[in-house]
Amino acid sequence: MKTCPSYKRCHATYELAEEALIGAHIAYDYDKGSHPVGVYQCDQCGQYHLTSHGEVNARLQKMLNEGEIQKQREADWWEGKIRRR
Ligand SMILES: [Zn+2]
Repeated sequence: MKTCPSYKRCHATYELAEEALIGAHIAYDYDKGSHPVGVYQCDQCGQYHLTSHGEVNARLQKMLNEGEIQKQREADWWEGKIRRR
């Protein structure tokens, strides 16, 4: 995989970047402050990066609105508990 001069993490496709964006919101309980909200195609490497600027990604916004992020986070937490036993 090519590396980007911006040193940001590269995602080969929009879909993969979107997965990473949603995954990050499940992994970290973003409240205030800077956090990724969207995905953009980089004009330097042609791959996709997450951005904390601009509009909130539609799929992420929907999942936040429907409480799906919270639900996933709880599911992950339980899975972690079971695995650690
Ligand atoms: Zn790039």
